[in-house]
Amino acid sequence: MSIHLFDTDFHNPLIISGPCSAETATQVMDTAILLKKTGKVHLLRAGVWKPRTKPGSFEGIGKAGFAWLTDAKKETGLPVAVEVGNVRHVEEALLNDIDVLWIGARTTVNPFLVQEIADALVGTSTPVLIKNPINPDLDLWIGALERFRNIGVPVGLVHRGFSTYSVSEYRNPPMWHLPLEVKRRFPEIKMICDPSHISGKRTMLKKIAQTSIDLDFDGLMIETHINPDDAWSDAKQQITPQELEFLLNELVWRKGNSEITENNSQLAKLREQINQIDEELLTLIGQRMKVADLIGIYKKENNITIYQAERWNEILYRGLSGSTMHGLSEHFIRNYFDAIHLESIEHQNRVMNEGNK
Ligand code: PEP
Ligand code: MN
Repeated sequence: MSIHLFDTDFHNPLIISGPCSAETATQVMDTAILLKKTGKVHLLRAGVWKPRTKPGSFEGIGKAGFAWLTDAKKETGLPVAVEVGNVRHVEEALLNDIDVLWIGARTTVNPFLVQEIADALVGTSTPVLIKNPINPDLDLWIGALERFRNIGVPVGLVHRGFSTYSVSEYRNPPMWHLPLEVKRRFPEIKMICDPSHISGKRTMLKKIAQTSIDLDFDGLMIETHINPDDAWSDAKQQITPQELEFLLNELVWRKGNSEITENNSQLAKLREQINQIDEELLTLIGQRMKVADLIGIYKKENNITIYQAERWNEILYRGLSGSTMHGLSEHFIRNYFDAIHLESIEHQNRVMNEGNK
């Protein structure tokens, strides 16, 4: 089956949907039929091999799932996509006429695997979607993109958020400035947003999807399941095909009806990038103050003064020594740390004197 997902016939926006994992013949077929009925989905996704962080959970149905996907494709006419994580997966997928392959976040981090998968695709024209690596490393993502581009298959990118050590409302915080930087460098490559893996929960899907549209993304990948609560993987983030239809109808598609000129839209994108970075900076500063509060509690319990000249000098010195690397002036670094320090002291003062009024 020939498929034009990433060339001039590209559907914009491209909507990819289907279960996190193929579980049973009925689940795949029923989900596909309902997705087709929405009239809004272009590509059916289903994981057959699942890269789970820890052993012991459902690791995918394996190649038995291909027959179900083939049947669903026959019934609905929807092309199908699966995740491949090694050469054997690629060979099985090609044998089973899978239309689109995607590289999962845990595979994009590994240049050996990415290259082996790319080599296994030489001579084919199967499109490949490349998810961002789990860690916020743009070069790894771009490196994978280049490896697939080098062998000449059509490629697209999927933004699924990045893992973080800090506590977050997201399963994988979007760090929007990263996909936006990739879009700036490779404006011709389609960028799809995956709100399911960014959020990890249903309630946030719409907000993330809308942000991606506002940021000029080219499509969405959203996980759907006929019975989301009973899904064998990623149950909390999946929605029914009917809910997907509702969500897609609620989104405001900005493209097409905008009258802004090319130049203005460039400016708007850069400004949006600034807004996102500011939001991330404030989130981080808020987290820094929470740590300061904990230090305040420690100081209170151990009768230590809030202000410690030595520590303050050390913080300032560390900041100043990084000024050139970050392209920031010494003057700015001093002002910035003064403001941060003052806010920290106010936080700790509050913590220390709580209950003393
Ligand atoms: C998936 O799409 O089901 C998946 C495993 O995603 P990711 O690689 O983004 O974690
Ligand atoms: Mn999933």
